[in-house]
Amino acid sequence: MHNIVKSSCILSGDAFKKSDYFCSMLEDKNPQRTSLEELGEFGLIDHLTKHFEIKHKSTVKGIGDDAAVLSSRSKQIVVTTDLLIEHVHFDLSYVPLKHLGYKSVMVNLSDVYAMNAQATQITISIAVSNRFPLEAIEELYSGIDTAARTYGIDVIGGDTTSSTTGLIISITAIGEVNEEDVVYRNGAQPNDLLVVTGDIGAAYMGLQVLEREKEVFKVNPGNQPDLEPYTYIIERQLKPEARKDIIELLQKLEVKPTSMIDISDGLSSEIIHLCKQSNVGVELYENKIPLDPQVISTCEEFNVDSTTIALNGGEDYELLMTISQEDFPKIKANPDLTVIGFITDKDRGMHLITRGEQAIPIIAKGWNAMKNEE
Ligand code: ADP
Ligand code: MG
Repeated sequence: MHNIVKSSCILSGDAFKKSDYFCSMLEDKNPQRTSLEELGEFGLIDHLTKHFEIKHKSTVKGIGDDAAVLSSRSKQIVVTTDLLIEHVHFDLSYVPLKHLGYKSVMVNLSDVYAMNAQATQITISIAVSNRFPLEAIEELYSGIDTAARTYGIDVIGGDTTSSTTGLIISITAIGEVNEEDVVYRNGAQPNDLLVVTGDIGAAYMGLQVLEREKEVFKVNPGNQPDLEPYTYIIERQLKPEARKDIIELLQKLEVKPTSMIDISDGLSSEIIHLCKQSNVGVELYENKIPLDPQVISTCEEFNVDSTTIALNGGEDYELLMTISQEDFPKIKANPDLTVIGFITDKDRGMHLITRGEQAIPIIAKGWNAMKNEE
């Protein structure tokens, strides 16, 4: 596998170490290559899944039978699924497989948390070609395993099949939530505050840096990229975190959002989803949008406007929510929650209020899987 980023780079935590972050361009010296054929389908499944432990009481039966068995314990169950396809959703020339495994889980957990639910189980289905040795699939699963351990998720099943070329990963996540706590996209009311977690735009700028280094690498394979100034944004691209902590925080603060969505496609398209489903309008303030300094400096370097990136970049996996004004005192001291606007009547439309106090209509330019890429 040609990687410009070493698979063990970025992050702390047992499977990811920051120490050897920077980063040999080529990881093709993979010492061992065990072919998948040698192992066979059942051998592979057994090899990959034998370490998974069950943590939740609601998992009655995990891997090993024709189907997993769950018990519901009087909560509501949320289910979500995502499909990731090589060359469409990820590029293995700069995404280490361990990170891909981790991120594939995050993408799904983020959707569960966006319902104000706790994630409990996942299933993992993969299609792999002979191009991948066993060691590569092990890397993928070590990222999945780290994610499952860190977030307290049971891996309860999946499917394994062959693919003629690329790698395909489909993960389904299951979660639970008390009936009175579930938060939909359609509950925003005029005068509610629009709140975003963390900061945005970083994952997209991290991707721009990785794409640039890939092009440099093509021309000069001996080149060792200096990624030091981009640590945060590359980490946000390669190792996003789903905001489980925010669901717990909201519970502690006794705040139930009136609506919520996770930011996978970009702030503007998620705002439009919330407003359309809730039948309301919005005013979003440019000067309130939380940006990391590294996003601002990298935007300057790439000569792009940071607000445009925040609105249209994707893959932040932050949460966007609306809360009632009554709840403002409970959230105002929290650095993880930023008020970026407020909800209006539908007929006032959806606008960005710029630093120059101009009102510009918000349009969706978010990443779209149906768009022709490259
Ligand atoms: P079946 O033929 O009944 O679909 P499989 O042989 O495909 O069963 O799977 C055996 C067990 O291993 C099942 O519990 C299944 O959910 C699990 N499993 C199969 N592939 C994977 C995978 N890639 N990741 C996790 N669990 C898997
Ligand atoms: Mg099967």
